[in-house]
This record gives sequence, structure tokens and C-alpha cells, in this order.
Amino acid sequence: MSPLFSYSWTMGVVVRNGLVVTAQGRSHLDVRCRDGRIVEVGKDLESLSMEEEVDATGQFVFPGGVDPHVHMELPVAGTVSSDDFETGTTAAIAGGTTTVIDFVHPERGQGFLEAFEERRLEAAKSVTDYGLHMAVTWWGDGTGDAMALAVREGMPSFKVYLAYKATVGLDDADVIRVLATARELGALVIVHAEHGEMIEHLRERLASEGRTAPIEHALSRPPELEGEATHRVATLAGTAGASLYVVHVTCRQSVEAILAAQRAGWDVHGETCPQYLLLDQTVYEADGFEGAAYVIAPPIRPSEHQEVLWQAITDGTLELVATDHCPFNMSQKALGIDDFRLIPGGAAGVEHRLSLLYTHGVAAGRFELERFVDLVSTQPAKRFGLYPRKGSVTVGADADLVVWDGEASATISAATDHHRCDRSIFEGFRVSGRPSVVVAAGQVRLRDGELRVERGSGRYLPRAVGAV
Ligand code: MN
Repeated sequence: MSPLFSYSWTMGVVVRNGLVVTAQGRSHLDVRCRDGRIVEVGKDLESLSMEEEVDATGQFVFPGGVDPHVHMELPVAGTVSSDDFETGTTAAIAGGTTTVIDFVHPERGQGFLEAFEERRLEAAKSVTDYGLHMAVTWWGDGTGDAMALAVREGMPSFKVYLAYKATVGLDDADVIRVLATARELGALVIVHAEHGEMIEHLRERLASEGRTAPIEHALSRPPELEGEATHRVATLAGTAGASLYVVHVTCRQSVEAILAAQRAGWDVHGETCPQYLLLDQTVYEADGFEGAAYVIAPPIRPSEHQEVLWQAITDGTLELVATDHCPFNMSQKALGIDDFRLIPGGAAGVEHRLSLLYTHGVAAGRFELERFVDLVSTQPAKRFGLYPRKGSVTVGADADLVVWDGEASATISAATDHHRCDRSIFEGFRVSGRPSVVVAAGQVRLRDGELRVERGSGRYLPRAVGAV
């Protein structure tokens, strides 16, 4: 289990002369960290002995990134996603993310708390702090009570899948039960919104026609089926009076459904991910089987959807950017070399969320630094009950800081990634801006390219209801 003791061995850290940027504004300030917390924020803080000094002159200082959608060591389609909690959270640190939220996926018939304890054992390897969402993969007599217990264990957010009904997905009647129970508990329902039955129909039809290549994955899950499911579940949540959060929004149809729900006064929110902002459907036409690296669900869309998503994160229709980090090596993707339906779905991304958003959002002039911090740190912390402990630079908050060198540049490659994955869906992407120093829970975990992570130093973060 995660350690309850303090593992600090220096007297603290002071980050000096940086431009501190939060979701609310920016100011030149020093930040002092001790015993895992921010203890002082101000100008020209005095020097103390036994303290590690970080000179952030000419750089930005952000609250550490919060990625609320990752899947470490997740069993999928006969294999397991290739980053475990240690390697995946190490990659997170390398890219400036200091908190992740993963999932508990009970087997059908398995008790939620038993599944939670098993997941805690796996997650205890984490080098960053972590929270967990509870996936409601089945509904039975005790499920409502089990949801209440999950809230007490710090998981006031419940994932439901409208697709994958053979394994984890729920039919609408059970989705409505989850929505109604979550409303009673003041909890949030998180949804993977695609029309599962129609996708199954299209997958079987394409396969029966001998169409087996990775591009068929995209063609079997068109944006209309994501838009329909988003509209349907938003309507169910709105009329049930429940709060809803739509993961990995990829397309115009879903953005329009979320906007319509918000205009109806419903408590409906959404995220997108860098791969949907930056890649287009032609990735599936890569030579040979290489398109399999991009097999994720929902799939990468035709390019006309990208600008809709950029507009949505700029104007707030979509409130944050997560990754859906779920890597598989090519040897694992090869399970589906003769049949796209057997390719494990997922790709690596937790390391590059900040640099891609900074490059294509801030440096490209789409939005300001404050909006960037909101998208990658503050809003995820608020939505999932971690704010202001995470997502802020204030006295008393956890000392999770990113010193960001906006002048640095790099080229993304699987060869240099910290992800445990032999393909990068962003291979060759140039990025400007990188973390030069990362402080997590008051410890310097990255400095000038050197990682100083410690297996098991991450703590489980119980999260509170209604913190937004
Ligand atoms: Mn996911």
C-alpha cells in the first residue's frame, strides 16, 4: 500500500525567480516547499541552509500536471497495457505530470471493494500521486451500496461504457441506474460514449467482407455513433439530474451534443486528448500493419474535426485535456494482424500532453498560458475533487511544481520516450517547451534531464464529492 510516512530527506526546495502561472494569472514569485507542501509564496524569499535551490529565471512555474484519464497495466483483449504504474508514472514525471487518475475495473460479479484493493496493490508502485475512478462494469442487487462504499474510499467518479457490452459495457437501463445512484451520492458519472451495438454490427459486416486492415477499425466506429451516444447519455443524465463527464471527445457531433446539453442547463462536461487534436484518420493508411499503432477507441477522425476540438477547448465547451494513456507494443498489436477486431486498443501519451498542448496551443497563439494551466492541471484537479491540494500554487497545497523552459525544443520519438512502448503516435513531432525541473510532493524528481524518481513514493489520493 502507499506509504503513510513522510519520505522527505532534504530540508526542502525553493524555486526562485520564475514566472508563476496559474489558471488565474501570472506573477514573478519564489515558491518554498517543505514536508511535501508549499509553505511560502512571495518575492525574494530568504535563503535557508539545507534547502535545494532551483533557479527558474526566464522560465515558467506551473502547478504539476493532472492527467485524469490513464490506464496503466490494464488487461485488454488477451494482453496487458505495456506501462505498469511505475514506468507510466515515470513517463508522466518526465513530461511534467505529477498526478494521474486511473481506473478500477471489477470483473463482472466481483465486488467493487475487492477490485479496488487489488488495484491499490498494482498502483502502489507509482512514483506520482494517483487517484482511482470506479468503473461500473455490471449492475446487481448490491451495486448501489457498492457505489456508496466506493465514494467513502475516495472514488466519487464512476465510469460507464456504452460500447463493449460483451465485457464492461452497460445497457441504457443500467446506465440510468448508475446515473440515479450517482445523483443520490453527489457523485460524477464518466462515460465512454459510442453506440456499442451498431459498432458490433459494422465490425462483423466489414470482417465478413474480408476487410481486416487497421483502417477498418476507424470505419467501423464513425463519428455519428459517438455523437448519437453522447447526445443520448447527456439527455439521460440531464433528465435524471445527474452530473456527467464525457471522456475522449473526438468529433464535431459530440461537441455539439455537449454544447446543447450545457445550453439546456445540464451539468455535462467533456475532455479531449492530444491525439484527437493533432492526428487525422490518414494515420490508419500507414504502410503494412503500422496503422495498428493508432488503433484506439474512439478512433482518430478525419481532419475536419480537429479545428472543432481546438475551438471547444479554447472556449471551454470541453473543459480539459487528458491522454487516455494505454500503450501497447507492436508485438501486442500483432494479435490483430489478420483481423482489426483483435488489435488491442490504446496508445502511449502521458509523457507528451503538456509539451504538445504548449506547442500547438500556447506557442501557436490559440490560447494564453493561464488557459493552458487550467486545461492540464487546475480544471482536472477541480473536476475530480483534488483542488486546491492539486492544480494550484498556494500555501498549503501539495508541492507539485513544473519549471517549464518555453525556449527548449525536442522531437518526440519512441526511441527517447520514457513510455514502455516501441511506437509513438507522435513520432517525429517537434515540440517547443519542456519541463526543466519537476517537483512532486516536495521532492525534486526531474532536474536537467535527470530523473530521480522513487518506486512507490506516490500516494493514493482519496477524492471528495462535490469539490467543484
Ligand atoms: Mn480510456
